[in-house]
Amino acid sequence: MSTQQKIAFHTLGCKLNFSETSSLANQAEDAGYQRVDMDEQADVYVVNTCSVTENADKECRYIVRKIKRTSPESKVIIIGCYAQLKPQEIADIEGVDMVLGATEKFNLLKHIQTIDHAESKVKAEDIKEVNEFVPSYSSGDRTRTFLKVQDGCDYFCTFCTIPLARGRSRSQSIEETMQVFERAVQTGVQEIVLTGVNTGDYGKTSDGRKRTEETFFDLLLAIENVYKGTGLRVRVSSIEPNLLTEDIIDMVASSNVFMPHFHIPLQSGSDAMLESMQRKYDSAFYREKVTYIKNKIPHACIGVDVIVGYPEETDAHFEESYAFVQSLPVSYLHVFTYSERANTRAVKSDSYVPIEVRRDRNKRLRILSDKLKRQYYQEHIGRVYPVVFEHEDDNGFMNGYTSNYIRVRTKFDETKVGKIVNFQLDRLNPFLFVEGQFVE
Ligand code: SF4
Repeated sequence: MSTQQKIAFHTLGCKLNFSETSSLANQAEDAGYQRVDMDEQADVYVVNTCSVTENADKECRYIVRKIKRTSPESKVIIIGCYAQLKPQEIADIEGVDMVLGATEKFNLLKHIQTIDHAESKVKAEDIKEVNEFVPSYSSGDRTRTFLKVQDGCDYFCTFCTIPLARGRSRSQSIEETMQVFERAVQTGVQEIVLTGVNTGDYGKTSDGRKRTEETFFDLLLAIENVYKGTGLRVRVSSIEPNLLTEDIIDMVASSNVFMPHFHIPLQSGSDAMLESMQRKYDSAFYREKVTYIKNKIPHACIGVDVIVGYPEETDAHFEESYAFVQSLPVSYLHVFTYSERANTRAVKSDSYVPIEVRRDRNKRLRILSDKLKRQYYQEHIGRVYPVVFEHEDDNGFMNGYTSNYIRVRTKFDETKVGKIVNFQLDRLNPFLFVEGQFVE
């Protein structure tokens, strides 16, 4: 490159997208590009989109307009899940120069070179042909990195477009995954979060064509064996209840590498809804799993994903779901409002939940989530947990999470940032932070 070109990245959606953006940005920097912020002038802008974001097309249009106001001469490339799902729709947005699908996004630099004389703006393959696993981990955060260990999903839940955007379930071998893991450790982070679309489904070949002998549990065991006693903390971002085996829970219970924190999608506490969604368990199975965790690790944090407003969710189903969640010993909820997605089975349903009812259900569950979190935090007041504190916030404080994912806050102290320190939980403040003090 004769003069140094500037490149900016914008990421929407999940941690997987963030880790993939980081890898692409690192590649660009290695190739001689200067990375700048989105609101600065750049030669190339890359927007990594999400299919779960509501109004993804509007958001995309808005970002492209903003880019063109800042740098009218720049090139704009759209990648990510939404780019794979609706390539032509995106290519038609004024100002978009190129759209790269699920495989082609990893050839970003090559495509930038050809952007002025490419035959077509769209480089997106049929999702059935997407059969490559590209490892990545996020960077830019001194304390934590999100490491992608698995991609794609073979489940086809009725409401979800992810299999259409990311392709079949696939991963690398344990040997290869451990090499990438070690590279992430070498960046100096204190905590690694294992991330995937269906993380627990780890162990399919990197082209997604068959299952290997290696399981997610084997991967965790390999990590445990290499990193025990090093002080490194590892979390599993989210795992389907049917793939969270007792072996995994038992190992986390006795490990000082894996944090006592589980995030387990439930989606509904109504068996009729779970069946309609084609989930692979019922509410009794879910309760057993959560109970098993709490018996083994009483201080474990358990987060739950729930969807409200699924087309067939009547008031009675919602109340059933609400009562079920309320009765579980869990610590917080991630509440999603159902929204129609093209080419899913749910969108073809004859039933429909009015938008205001969806909003109301979402609000009720968010209030329940705060209540559960408050209760969970309160139970731990007076105890001491290891915490990794992050940088200073605008008010002279620093925040961090305990091993069991309690959000804590104290006055900024530079000597404690990015290290594992013991912290006593003293009191819960109204903003759902726990305040406390350092313990030697
Ligand atoms: S498990 Fe279901 S909800 Fe999750 S990514 Fe796969 S299809 Fe989507």
